[in-house]
Order: sequence, then C-alpha cells, then structure tokens
Amino acid sequence: MIFTAPDTEVIPVTTPPLEWDSGMYREAVAQFDQVAAYMDLDANVAERLRTPQRSFLTTFPFRKDDGQVETVFGYRVKHVLTMGPTKGGLRYAPTVNLGEVTALAMNMTWKCSLVGLPYGGAKGGVRVAPELLSRAEKQRLTRRYTSEIFTFIGPQSDIPAPDLGTDSQVMAWIMDTYSQQVGHPVPGVVTGKPVELGGTSVREESTGLGLAYLLPLALEMVDLPTKGTRVAIQGFGQVGKSVARAVTALGARVVAVSDLSGGIYRPDGIDIPALHQWTARNVWVNSFPEADPIDGDRLFEVDCEVLVPAAVQEVIHAGNAADITAAVVLEGANSPTTMEGDRILQKRGVLVIPDILANAGGVTVSYFEWLQGLQFYFWTNEETRQRLRDIMTKAFLSIKELAAKEQVDMRTAALIMGISRVAKAKLMRGLFP
Ligand code: NAD
Repeated sequence: MIFTAPDTEVIPVTTPPLEWDSGMYREAVAQFDQVAAYMDLDANVAERLRTPQRSFLTTFPFRKDDGQVETVFGYRVKHVLTMGPTKGGLRYAPTVNLGEVTALAMNMTWKCSLVGLPYGGAKGGVRVAPELLSRAEKQRLTRRYTSEIFTFIGPQSDIPAPDLGTDSQVMAWIMDTYSQQVGHPVPGVVTGKPVELGGTSVREESTGLGLAYLLPLALEMVDLPTKGTRVAIQGFGQVGKSVARAVTALGARVVAVSDLSGGIYRPDGIDIPALHQWTARNVWVNSFPEADPIDGDRLFEVDCEVLVPAAVQEVIHAGNAADITAAVVLEGANSPTTMEGDRILQKRGVLVIPDILANAGGVTVSYFEWLQGLQFYFWTNEETRQRLRDIMTKAFLSIKELAAKEQVDMRTAALIMGISRVAKAKLMRGLFP
C-alpha cells in the first residue's frame, strides 16, 4: 500500500497529548484515525500527524481605554511543516484554547493539501471577546500579540489570515508591526490585508465565492436546480455575508440568516443588499425590518434546500441534526458538524460538503495574495476569480469521483485526498537525522 513505509516500527508517544486536549481536538483526531485506518496509513506517519509539530502559547498584557491592564492568552499552532510554510487564520474569541486552535490547524493541513496549495496547516487565537474591544484596544492587543509571535511567523515560515473576530484591519496592524521590527515592508507576512497594502479585493468575498462555485455542483448531486433554491445561512460575518451575496447572484434565494443576536426569516427571499446596508449601520440582523425575526436556534429548521453554517464550530450535533430540513449542508464554518451530527445527517441522506473542501476558497485566494505579495506583481480580479473557480471545481470533481470509487461520503473522500498527499510527502522526505 502506498501509504506504508517499509520496515517501520511503531513506537507510540508515551504520554497522552494532554497539552492539546479539548473536545474539538479529540474530534479532529478521532476523525483522522477513522480515515487513517480506512487508508491503512503508515502507523508512524499517523502518529506524527495526530499532534502538531510546533505550538506556541503566550500570555500577554494590553492596556484598556480606561487605563486598566488586561492579560490574555494567545496561541499559534503549526500542524505540519513538511509541505512548505504554514498557513491559517487568527481568531479572537472568548473561549478559544490550544486544543481548538490545534484542531483547526490540523483541518487547515488537509484543506491546503486537497486543493494543492504548498502549505501545512496553522491556526492562531487570542482568548478575548472582540465585540467588547474598542478599535484602539484591538490595535494594542494585535500589536502586542504580533510582537509575541514575531519569531514564529514570517512570509517563508507562517502566514496568518483573518478568521472569527479578526479582519483586514487586524491584518494591516500585524503587517505593520512585523514590518517595523524587520525594518522594511513585508506584505507576504499576512493575507487578507486591505487592498492598499497589497491585499486583493477578492479576498473578502473569496470564501463565499468558493462556496457559491460549489453550490450548483452539489445541487446537481441531489437533482436540484440552483435557480430559486432556498438557502439558510448561520452567521453574517465575513463568510456569511460573502456567501449570501454570491449565492444570490447565482439566482438562489436566501430565506433565513442568523447571527449572535438571533435570526430572520422571509420565505420569498431576503433582500441581501438591503441586509448588508442594514448591518453596516446597525450591526445585528435580528432587527432587520424587511423579514420576520426568529429564534437563532430555529434557523436549522426553516424550510430550505441548502443550509450554510458560517459561524462557529460544533453547531450541528446529535441534538439537532435530525431537525435539519435541508438536502445539502455546505459547510462555510470550520468544524461546524460533530462526528455524531455527521452520522445522523448521513443516515438521513443529507449531502454534506465538508468544510475542508467547501470553505477552501478563503485560503486559496490567500495563497494568490501571498504569491503576489512575494512578487510585487498583482493580478486582476477577473484572473483571481477564474483561478479560484478552476481550483474549487477541480477539487470538488476529484473528491466526488473518489467518493464514488471508494463508496464513501464526501467528507471521508476529502480527508483521504488531503491526508494522502501529506503522508506521501512525509514518507518521501524521510526522517531527520
Ligand atoms: P466573523 O467573525 O466575521 O463572523 C462570525 C459571524 O457568526 C457573526 O455574524 C457572528 O455574530 C455569528 N455568530 C457567532 N456565533 C454564533 C452563533 N452561535 N449562532 C449564530 N451566529 C453566530 O467570522 P468569519 O470569518 O465569517 O468566520 C466564520 C467561520 O468561517 C469560522 O468557523 C471560520 O473559522 C470560518 N472560515 C472563515 C474564513 C475567512 O476567510 N474569514 C475562511 C474559511 C473559514
């Protein structure tokens, strides 16, 4: 079997990986183990891939506007250094922890691998509630975090990008802080930057565009048309907004949207440009006057063909998977479905397009931005969109083909594809020393 190196003896790590322990990390490893067993993956390589190669944990202070000093936890984890530099988002969230960041870094490895990007997975986080920070506080926090992780990131080593609670402004502060320390501008140190600093204007819509490119392909698998298809979206941040806009442009109808404030529902379709304008002024969706307010938890039960979780992890689980009415779940968020939730959806015949494929548009356009930042040569938006569409379509079709060949679901096929490339690369590079 190609995934097995000859003459290897498996010596398991002697202590359990308590450092990274968390529900999300355990789920990520359990999912990996399931697929690794199916693939008959070399046991030593499997052992190596269960834990991250490098983890960075820091506590650091930042000054609040009222003069008080607050100390927070910061993380940056690199899962695999075999494929090239590492790449992954940075999240500001009140419950983020080392295990969560590690699980997400692992996911990033498979994601980058399956779309053919020359990266290993990484992820970072700061345990803080971003909505409680003023702009000045966020800037001070970001600059201090960047200074803490300064030796851990870099355009050739590890490249952060926006994720939950961070955006292009945060990336601009990271780029500036890093550049101040090295003494010259380094646009390649982060992606998702403002256009004026070498970002691409497609980056902000990239995850949504990628999801939308896959929508007709997924609907075709369940014999449904795109035009008029009803979509419910959980989360109206960077991913939720961009996917709402992109699927509307394809002729689908967004009938329900939710965010932290609650949800809204309109069976004949929400006016998405109007909702964008509303949230630009009023932040939250729940008071949008041109739709009915609903409880945020009810979003999964509204009548629709497609559900796009685009908020946080583990929102589809044993307790609600049976209530989901959609025929297709297009995972915009990272790890939105627990393994038990996934089993229930599968049993019910719901087609799940897994996160590592569905939301790969974000890291793909990040890769384009990074390349352009290294070369100081910039593409047109049209070129960027076309290359994104090609990569997403190719990945989808190969995973669909693999799923049919192996008689497995799309998530398993995507994981097999992602893991196998990394495993082969590890075996080819061999062991140092
Ligand atoms: P964001 O901070 O811009 O937006 C998050 C949205 O989710 C907000 O509208 C927030 O109110 C809402 N939300 C939070 N908790 C919720 C809950 N319990 N119920 C309903 N809504 C809730 O974050 P984002 O960048 O859009 O990221 C969303 C998800 O997509 C995350 O899982 C992230 O890891 C993933 N992701 C992001 C990108 C990217 O480019 N930003 C790329 C790939 C994947």
